[in-house]
Amino acid sequence: MGRQFFVGGNFKMNGNIKTIRDIVHNINSAKLDPNVEVVIAPPALYLLLAREHLRKGIEVAAQNVFDKPDGAFTGEISVKQLKESGITWTLTGHSERRVILQEDDAFVASKTKAALDGGLGVILCCGESLEQREAGKTIEVVTAQLKAVADIVKDWSKIVIAYEPIWAIGTGKVATTAQAQEVHAAIREWLKKEVSPEAAEATRILYGGSVNEKNCTELGKQPDIDGFLVGGASLKPAFVDIINANST
Ligand code: PEP
Repeated sequence: MGRQFFVGGNFKMNGNIKTIRDIVHNINSAKLDPNVEVVIAPPALYLLLAREHLRKGIEVAAQNVFDKPDGAFTGEISVKQLKESGITWTLTGHSERRVILQEDDAFVASKTKAALDGGLGVILCCGESLEQREAGKTIEVVTAQLKAVADIVKDWSKIVIAYEPIWAIGTGKVATTAQAQEVHAAIREWLKKEVSPEAAEATRILYGGSVNEKNCTELGKQPDIDGFLVGGASLKPAFVDIINANST
């Protein structure tokens, strides 16, 4: 069976009660390709609001989660708290958390493991900086980020990988289809060798970085691009067009 196309919307620290309601209403009332799995990730404060109003069949993700079950961890949210609230996915390893909040590969891996152990799906983000790309280190960087997870997680069936080159996030500079496909194919090859041939076949690898309603169709045609993680455009009505990239 082929891999089901997956489109995630990462709202980052954007939105308010009104705009989150509007976005949810827009998604609820749109005609969406039934073959696409859709997950939106609003800021933590609005997870429940989104879950309450979003139609069934579309899931909600946290943008972050902590790796301890409970206790004195001010400002953090546990896997169990998300699960209890009907939040079935989380992002881990987004480059804004790796760079700005200084989360290292081991911490991202530990959070990924905690989320999976607690029954959440994980959108595991990876990607290189412009400097690393120019130094020819893209595959090395990305596979090292993934290896930290593979060292402690054996079952990848609830992981969706999001390849997001840092230089393409929020910059309007989308990777070319060839650049994206090349890295996606390398990630799949890595999965085959380091996890299992089954995981390589089944794992969805999303592209993220300035995806919009104009560039999504071409990107979505690449054999190893199984969907998108969308930032800025997920806040706009165009998000629906991106979800429907394969049916237009
Ligand atoms: C993201 O933050 O995951 C992202 C891909 O952002 P943008 O689409 O705005 O580049």
